[in-house]
Amino acid sequence: MTTVVRKPAGFRQACDDARAGSRTVGLVPTMGALHEGHFSLIEEAKKRTDFVAVTIFVNPLQFGPGEDLDRYPRTLESDLAGCRERDVDVVFAPAPDSMYPAQFQTQVSIGELTKPLEGECRPAHFDGVTTVVAKLFNLAGPCTAMFGRKDYQQWKILSRMAHDLDMPIGVVGCPIVREPDGLALSSRNRYLSASERKRALGIVCGLRRAHDAWCEGEHSPDTLRSLAAEPVQSDFDRVDYVAAVDPDTLVKPAGPSSRVLIAVAAHLGTTRLIDNVVLGEDPRP
Ligand code: AMP
Repeated sequence: MTTVVRKPAGFRQACDDARAGSRTVGLVPTMGALHEGHFSLIEEAKKRTDFVAVTIFVNPLQFGPGEDLDRYPRTLESDLAGCRERDVDVVFAPAPDSMYPAQFQTQVSIGELTKPLEGECRPAHFDGVTTVVAKLFNLAGPCTAMFGRKDYQQWKILSRMAHDLDMPIGVVGCPIVREPDGLALSSRNRYLSASERKRALGIVCGLRRAHDAWCEGEHSPDTLRSLAAEPVQSDFDRVDYVAAVDPDTLVKPAGPSSRVLIAVAAHLGTTRLIDNVVLGEDPRP
């Protein structure tokens, strides 16, 4: 049976009760509009833990001015149906004012890892993410938390945060789930028109070109970056970045290395898509 709780105290109680009954807790934080990417995190949580908690909260703190907070899809009833189908134990779906009451004034801010890539394009974004996830970690208590590597930088930052702040949380990064043609699943894909949906494959094409070149022995970050960038630049309306960086530090490697993260963010009309591949580690997208 899936229990739905709306208040932070109810969520804390549900997780405490599970542990009191000797069950391990698996946490899957989301903003809802659930798709197979989210469901893969739920399946991973079910494999690793005894009690699966999904949170659904469109976190206003992580949206900048002019971003898509107001139009972000909110599909709670079908999300709950998806969670019930998969036997999720508890869904925490708070209202914004129960997460951020009027006097709220605290921010969790992480250092260097938040500066490049998404941090350059969305200045307050990661402070919003780390603040809300710190709250969710504190409410859930000791647990294993699943994050998608689709948001690669976010996963790295949250692992760092849990470690640096001695939080009793294991942070797990799960593989990217893709459509059959390679496009990474995203709640934002539903905004794409038919022609934008076709052009969205420019990202996959770029990542595959870099992956293929890597497999043929090309390990220069600059060359890999250019190979990935070409189709993105020709198919997308605006490119925020195409980067080739060290997968752990997220800064440019000095020279050829054994693993390289190719990360992309680009716009089609009013929709912003991100994707990535770790060369030397991930399969071909
Ligand atoms: P969101 O609801 O977009 O904030 O995403 C919630 C979680 O699902 C994050 O950890 C995302 O990285 C993860 N996620 C989103 N899309 C995918 C995907 N295509 N494959 C794997 N994980 C994903």
